[in-house]
Amino acid sequence: AISIENLGKSYGDFEVLKSVNLSVAQGEKIVICGPSGSGKSTLIRTINRLEEHQRGRIIVDGIELTGDLKGIEKVRSEVGMVFQHFNLFPHLTILENCTLAPIWVRKMPRQHAQEIAMEFLRKVRIPEQADKYPGQLSGGQQQRVAIARALCMKPRIMLFDEPTSALDPEMIKEVLDTMIELANDGMTMLCVTHEMGFAQAVADRIVFMDGGKVIEENRPAEFFKSPRNPRARAFLSQIV
Ligand code: ATP
Ligand code: MG
Repeated sequence: AISIENLGKSYGDFEVLKSVNLSVAQGEKIVICGPSGSGKSTLIRTINRLEEHQRGRIIVDGIELTGDLKGIEKVRSEVGMVFQHFNLFPHLTILENCTLAPIWVRKMPRQHAQEIAMEFLRKVRIPEQADKYPGQLSGGQQQRVAIARALCMKPRIMLFDEPTSALDPEMIKEVLDTMIELANDGMTMLCVTHEMGFAQAVADRIVFMDGGKVIEENRPAEFFKSPRNPRARAFLSQIV
């Protein structure tokens, strides 16, 4: 579970997050959307402390993210993240990409790490690619590797930052299908995405951000039918 209270963050004078409140229960799926520059990436990057916040509190599974970085390793190992650009290591094979952190961070024996990696590569339906290099795979396949790689750390929470927005249209569905399966398995998920079909199918709640604030939190059915906030309405009319 995640609890975010009055979260604030600035870059110099620029207040990128303004008193954001959000709580996510175990197993919940949240979709975050909003205009470019509204602070979506910054918000989810604060949750595993890729970004530091200056005001308010973030508590992940009972561990507060604080300046002294106590507990950060534990939080990082519980929170998996998938980015728009897959960030795979190009000089490592798919299997090596998936076993690197389990071996070096989790101190898992190599063979066990490989067994787990193959299990997740089967789950994302590309076990046959295990010995190839990222450059030999399509974008959709690389993104599924990125998801498998994150799952190999056995996270309790998965963060996604526009995982399909760098993909060609024909590859978007295969990645979304993988995410839908993960959701059906009960994973706690925070997804920044503008894939509104996915949001309708999977999200328990939609969080709409604008100008560094959460300005609407709503169930998908209501959000898409009749968003309460005029800026959300304007945003939706542009993207769907
Ligand atoms: P997009 O939809 O384009 O991905 P976003 O909602 O994810 O946008 P963020 O990337 O969180 O937005 O950025 C929010 C604001 O913070 C933007 O105005 C951006 O220019 C600014 N910003 C982001 N990173 C930095 C940084 N390292 N230094 C200064 N400003 C930054
Ligand atoms: Mg972003």
